[in-house]
Amino acid sequence: MSDHFSEGRYFNPWGTSARGLMDVLRWKLERGAKPWPATVVDPPPPPLPDLVQEQLGATFLGHASLLLRLPGLTVITDPVFSKRASPLSWIGPARVRSAAFGPNQLPKLDAVLVSHNHYDHLDLPSLRALAAKGARTAITPLGNGRWLKAAGFPEVIELDWWQSTEVAGGRVTLTPAQHWSSRTPFDRNRALWGGFRLDAGGRSAFFPGDTGYGPHFAMIRERLGPVDLAALPIGAYEPRWFMASMHMNPEDAVKAHGDLGAVASAAMHWGTFRLTDEGIEDPPKALAAERERAGLDPGSFRVLAHGETWVR
Ligand code: ZN
Ligand code: ZN
Repeated sequence: MSDHFSEGRYFNPWGTSARGLMDVLRWKLERGAKPWPATVVDPPPPPLPDLVQEQLGATFLGHASLLLRLPGLTVITDPVFSKRASPLSWIGPARVRSAAFGPNQLPKLDAVLVSHNHYDHLDLPSLRALAAKGARTAITPLGNGRWLKAAGFPEVIELDWWQSTEVAGGRVTLTPAQHWSSRTPFDRNRALWGGFRLDAGGRSAFFPGDTGYGPHFAMIRERLGPVDLAALPIGAYEPRWFMASMHMNPEDAVKAHGDLGAVASAAMHWGTFRLTDEGIEDPPKALAAERERAGLDPGSFRVLAHGETWVR
């Protein structure tokens, strides 16, 4: 028995309804989208710092791609290096800034983590490139393994919420998220979505994938304990009537940071692909305002530059 799977489809157990085609039409007819620049050129990223002993490093590569290094465990999350987050190379959201590091510039990966099957998170050319570079293990929620096998990973591990697996010197646990899935018009919610909690060498990190705000953050802290460093999505949130059930805004992210008992949080899921209506710089600005309103130390929830590594 599962509280999030029935008749071939997954669902959010705390009862958020999915948006339908009429909602998409209403959103697009409202024409509330703010313009984005076509290109943003970042300064070249500094080289990846070496970590010593018990250090933990989070490098923001862009969107939801992060290199997370714990003592004995190095992973990448939702790697996307392609020009578009789309099934087609010539249409769909185009990236406005390059990934800070490409597959050739990354250290040896113990695992590639893929949170769900949306195109801005599961990108086959990027996964193929990492498998070709020698990454062996891929970890993903139930139902997504076939894409990772197709990408060429010799070891593909599918997990249900709360299941975990040992990899290299650590443990990876799949955590619940409030979201949905689809890659075609015919496979809505046929594959699961989720986040990843990492524990290695006495340190911990958390990557929620895409998620709306919900009771799951408090549940994750209750079951797995507070976390040293969380990567939290702050973008793709306007208009709220449509997006709140699937993407957090900065206000939600600050709540999630508290619910998780995160010692430190790094912002992600903004600034690369224009998916929704807010302006490109709105998420970091709103996060700064929200931190101040909530009386949160700016150093505890940071917006990393693209390519920056936060060592903790
Ligand atoms: Zn998504
Ligand atoms: Zn996304």
